[in-house]
Amino acid sequence: MASGKCKLGGRLRPCKQRAEHTCQYCARDFCHDHSYYVEGYEAVCTRKPCVTKHDDLQRHLGYKEEVLRRNKAGLCAEPDCEATNPAFQCSFCRGHFCPEHIQERNYAMQEGWVKVDKQVSLCAWCWGRRKVWQKR
Ligand SMILES: [Zn+2]
Ligand SMILES: [Zn+2]
Ligand SMILES: [Zn+2]
Ligand SMILES: [Zn+2]
Repeated sequence: MASGKCKLGGRLRPCKQRAEHTCQYCARDFCHDHSYYVEGYEAVCTRKPCVTKHDDLQRHLGYKEEVLRRNKAGLCAEPDCEATNPAFQCSFCRGHFCPEHIQERNYAMQEGWVKVDKQVSLCAWCWGRRKVWQKR
């Protein structure tokens, strides 16, 4: 639980309200007015990067359902792809894809305090998400 004052509102006009939650993404304490999403164990503040992350995660859950549905039908998980028996697995969403819809990429991953470039197989969707998640 958060204690003390809300950390949002900017340097020039800091928010003076009592903090009620701690953001799960940026770890800042925030007040009721600066709540973007609070539910159960989840708490997201109204800072742009945090809002983007939350919305992306919601879209991603929908995407993973679609991937599962297509893979169960024996299809490549890429929407509208006709390829059957997809043999390549995406390292992030765990969906199976045809060779056309998956690529080896260098992905900068956080390992403790350092960023390490790793070779991973990714679908287009997961590759696109890095813009959201590699920002702090
Ligand atoms: Zn935040
Ligand atoms: Zn506030
Ligand atoms: Zn993927
Ligand atoms: Zn495909």
